[in-house]
Amino acid sequence: MRISEEQLKKVDAQIKRLIKTDSYYGKMYRDLGFTGCASEEEFLRIPFSSKEDLRNAYPLGIQAVPDEEVVRIHSSSGTTGKPVIIPYTAKDVDDWATMFARCYELAGITKKDRIQITPGYGLWTAGIGFQAGCEKLGAMAIPMGPGNTEKQLQMMQDLGSTVICATSSYALLLAEEINKRGLKDKIKLKKGVIGSERWSDKKREYIANELGIELYDIYGLTEIYGPGIGVNCSKQTGMHCFDDYLYIEIINPKTGEPVPDGEMGEIVITTLVKEGAPLLRFRTHDMSRIIPGDCPCGCKYPRLDVIQGRSDDMFKVHGVNMFPSQVEEILGMVEGVSSEYKIDIAHDDETNRDIIMLTAEADGRVNFQDTADAVRSLFKSRMSVTPRVNIVPLQTLPRSEKKTKRVFDHREE
Ligand code: ZN
Repeated sequence: MRISEEQLKKVDAQIKRLIKTDSYYGKMYRDLGFTGCASEEEFLRIPFSSKEDLRNAYPLGIQAVPDEEVVRIHSSSGTTGKPVIIPYTAKDVDDWATMFARCYELAGITKKDRIQITPGYGLWTAGIGFQAGCEKLGAMAIPMGPGNTEKQLQMMQDLGSTVICATSSYALLLAEEINKRGLKDKIKLKKGVIGSERWSDKKREYIANELGIELYDIYGLTEIYGPGIGVNCSKQTGMHCFDDYLYIEIINPKTGEPVPDGEMGEIVITTLVKEGAPLLRFRTHDMSRIIPGDCPCGCKYPRLDVIQGRSDDMFKVHGVNMFPSQVEEILGMVEGVSSEYKIDIAHDDETNRDIIMLTAEADGRVNFQDTADAVRSLFKSRMSVTPRVNIVPLQTLPRSEKKTKRVFDHREE
């Protein structure tokens, strides 16, 4: 997707403002001799920014406005090293809520809805993002936060929640509980807005069927406002992203070169109007593709496909590159297997070979040994690598309220 004239003007304004500050990127762009951004060629000369930069600039090195303009910070913890802190101005907070309200609208949610919000509140951007968007839209927020399933189900019934906001794992847990307790007739849910991570069609179908709801993927990350920068519409043909606030590129994660629309690569985002912590060409490590052409819903915002995984989740065994999404596809083909799984990769010093161990869940109706054999042979035929497969009973693997880590590489330890 080429950058438009209007987007270029916004990037130009960002750079002109940044180089007048002593912020991390202000200094960097000044040292690089940047004076603005007048063309696509100049845009493509802007170096990628990364979470590593944000760690280097910890705590507030990227702040690009005076202190009196900052109204809030958020932080993403990450799995390694220092956290990242993102300062927001009042306009940033408002812009984010505007985008989030658009997400709800694209999902067909209105002022009359009652939105039960289960993502966490606090330093990270989840709960408060869902809430601010809900209030901007004018719907009723039910700010539950995570956990306490007992109370979640009680409020869901008593208040007649019509929308549930959750991670896919937590939505699955709620669906399983509602099914187990026979509450389906007592709940009024119509839609689920699910924080986007790669999740299998099988899990999606289970949640949609058990709860009898339509599901919408919402996209976003703390470094770029938070969740709510893109969402599926009712045509379910990808997530519309708001190109008046953001410019999205897809690159080859190995070479950094842009890939053509329709081709899979890493999402790189430029914030066009962010004040507190503008980011240009930020590498998200999320893998997806631009969906070419117009959406049948008529909405003109460009579309990203569902997130296929993280470029850093890609794992390599015996020279074969694999994504968790491919493993999910395989599991989806085997009867009785759930969508939860875990992969451990280790090196066997005796044979000097890498070993891949796949743990998956199956329900009690199926024979675990036969199921393991079926998974192993599918894996071998599709990935050319033979894993060790361990089948465990349903609900053995942890359901997380945050994004679940599924691949554990023990080779470098
Ligand atoms: Zn659409």
